[in-house]
Amino acid sequence: MTKNIIFLLAFLITSLTINAQNTVIKAGHFFDARNGKMLENQIIVIQDGKIKEIGTNPKFSDTDSIIDLSNSWVLPGLMDCHVHITANLPYRNLQMEQMYASESTSLRAIRGSVVAKQFLDNGFTTIKEIGNDANYATADVIKAIKNGWIQGPTIIYAGKIIAPYGGQSSGINPEHELFWNFEYIDADTPDEIKKAVRKNLYNGATVIKMVTGDNGIYNAEDIKAAVDEAKKYNIKVTVHAGGGLAATNVISGGAAGIEHGFQLNNEQLQLMKDKGIFLVGTDFSYDNWYAYGMDSVTATALNNMLVDRLKRAYKIGTPMAFGTDIIVDLPELNRVQSSLKVLETWKAAEIPASYILQTMTIKAAELLGIDKERGILESSYYADIIAVKNNPLNDIESIRTVHFVMKEGEIIRNDNK
Ligand SMILES: [Zn+2]
Repeated sequence: MTKNIIFLLAFLITSLTINAQNTVIKAGHFFDARNGKMLENQIIVIQDGKIKEIGTNPKFSDTDSIIDLSNSWVLPGLMDCHVHITANLPYRNLQMEQMYASESTSLRAIRGSVVAKQFLDNGFTTIKEIGNDANYATADVIKAIKNGWIQGPTIIYAGKIIAPYGGQSSGINPEHELFWNFEYIDADTPDEIKKAVRKNLYNGATVIKMVTGDNGIYNAEDIKAAVDEAKKYNIKVTVHAGGGLAATNVISGGAAGIEHGFQLNNEQLQLMKDKGIFLVGTDFSYDNWYAYGMDSVTATALNNMLVDRLKRAYKIGTPMAFGTDIIVDLPELNRVQSSLKVLETWKAAEIPASYILQTMTIKAAELLGIDKERGILESSYYADIIAVKNNPLNDIESIRTVHFVMKEGEIIRNDNK
C-alpha cells in the first residue's frame, strides 16, 4: 500500500515537472538596466516567479504561456525609494498635525493598501515606505499583501521615524508629546537611538529612517549608533537631512543614504560619492511645491534650487536612487501620477533618461540592499516586469504609459491583450 502511494506521488511529481508551464514574454524592446541600454527582440522565460532564461533565442515549449510585447518597451519593475503610502494631505494645505490627530491607524492602513496598489498598477513593483504611518500602519499593509488579501509592491519599510525630541512637529505644546510619538520615536542619545532601532525591528522594519536638522542635529556618533545596531540585522540606515552640519554628521556617521539633501554643497556630494552614500533627492517639481502650499515665486525658487543640486550631484557622480516623497495629490491625478511630476525636475537638470531609469531600477535596488534579486532582468532574478508604449529613452515621461505589470511572475495588469 505504502509502496503504491510512493509510486503514485513519484509519478505525479514527474508529470508535473514535465508539464510545468512557463511564461514567456516576447519583448520587442528591452531595457538592459545594468548597462543602461535598450536591446531588441529579447525573450524572457519565467518559471516559479523568477527569470529562468533571457536572450534572443532561449528554449521554450509550445505549451508555454506566451505574452506578446513585441511592440512595447519592456523594463524591470520601477522602484520609488521615498514614499508615504498611508499619508495624504489636502491640496495646498500642509497640516501634518491635523492628519495625525484626526485619522486612526486603521484608516491610514486602508489608505496605504489603496496607494500601494496604485504604485503597483503604475509600474512600481518595489517601494521604500519611509515612515509617518501612524502606529505602524504599513506593517499591516505588508502582512495583507503577504497573505494575498490585496495586491501590492514589495515594501521596504522604515517603521517609525527616529528623531531628536519633538519629531518634525513645531509649535505643539510639549504637554501633548505623546501626540507626535504616534509618528516618531524621540531618541536623543546613542542608547535611546539603539533602543528605537530595536523597537522598529520588532515592528517589522527593514530599513531605519532618522530625521536630523529639524528639531535638533544628531552627532556623527548618534548616526553611527543606529548604523551599528542596524548592521547586526543586515539593515541600512537612511537619514532625512537638508545640508550643513546635519548632513555632514550623517555622512561621517556612515549612513547608507541621505533623503532630500536639498542644500548639499559640492564637497558633501563628493564625500557621498567617495563613501558610496546615496542621495534620494525627492526633487519636487514646481507643481509639487505649489501643491504643498508654496506661492508661485517660492515654488519656482525651490524648484530651481533642486535642478541645480541634481545637476551638481550628477556631474560629481554621487550615487542616486529615485524617490518622490509626494503626499499631496495634484488635481485630477492619483498618487503615482502626482509623484511622477518630479521627472520634470530631472529633465530640467538634463539628466539622461537612461540614467534616470537606472536610478529607478538597478541603483535603487543597490540602495535598498535587494540588488541580487530585483532591479534588473537577468537569470534567477524575480520576474518584476513592466511594459510601456513608447521609448522611455526618447522621453522619460513614457513611463507614464505603463500597460503591463508582472509581479514575481503573476500578471497584475495587461491592457495589451
Ligand atoms: Zn518624506
